Amino acid sequence: MKLIRFGEKGAERPGMVLRDGSLIDCSIFGEDYDENFFGTRGLKRLRRWAATFATSAGKVTPPVRYGTPIARPSKIICIGLNYRDHAQETGSEIPREPIVFLKSTSATAGAFDDLVMPRGASKVDWEIELGVVIGTRTSVVPESRAADAIAGYLVVNDFSERGFQLEHGGQWVKGKSADGFAPLGPYFATPEEIGNPHDLKMWLAVNGTTMQSSSTANMIFGIPRIISYVSQFMTLLPGDIISTGTPSGVALGRKPTRYLQVGDVIESEIEGLGKQRQEVVPWQRASASKQSA
Ligand code: ZN
Repeated sequence: MKLIRFGEKGAERPGMVLRDGSLIDCSIFGEDYDENFFGTRGLKRLRRWAATFATSAGKVTPPVRYGTPIARPSKIICIGLNYRDHAQETGSEIPREPIVFLKSTSATAGAFDDLVMPRGASKVDWEIELGVVIGTRTSVVPESRAADAIAGYLVVNDFSERGFQLEHGGQWVKGKSADGFAPLGPYFATPEEIGNPHDLKMWLAVNGTTMQSSSTANMIFGIPRIISYVSQFMTLLPGDIISTGTPSGVALGRKPTRYLQVGDVIESEIEGLGKQRQEVVPWQRASASKQSA
């Protein structure tokens, strides 16, 4: 199954992408795609519902805004420097254990929403990443059973402000958490939709020039290891997202660096999980209050 949430920000409705690519409204199913949904076998119930009602459900006709395909998760966990070439381009050592940091959940955005330049930002950077969505409450799980924790996958762009991240001391979270810094989707896909999650092509382009081009095959720590590792330190809840790291080609790693400017267009895609597109727009007091509304 491929799930979407569509409509205006804050008023999204649940939907689904059918095999022929058409979109249906699943409001009548009566649940949002949130922690309760994933934690109570919602995917199974929705699958059963769709088998009977998908053909008669209301169609969603484009143009429509794609919201985050899952409702705001309890946490977004990110894995740092999980691709060898990216660790090298940032001048970092290859990590011996997964590097774990958090990203604010208020940073989530739809896959095609404008990227608002944060106030005072001058080093905004991109990071295409495979996001793993957790399906069941998971604590201290061995690698051999980690796959049971997975509900599905989606595209994450782990946008980062490198000045905020690296020049103010303390944790990376400061550079990772601005509004819009975690566009998700366009859709969420259950595991059978994508096959091997460690063999998906991924790319990102800025203004039509390819900046990142790699495959999830190049991760240092694979998904079972990451889930098992993180679950030693915190309980993963249904709907939580683990963003599994980015390959090389980010602005920080370029000589000279090439950070995002107002007007830039970022496009990215992971095989089987769809394509995102953001345009960078300036920060305004009005957009800040609208985003927090
Ligand atoms: Zn990242």
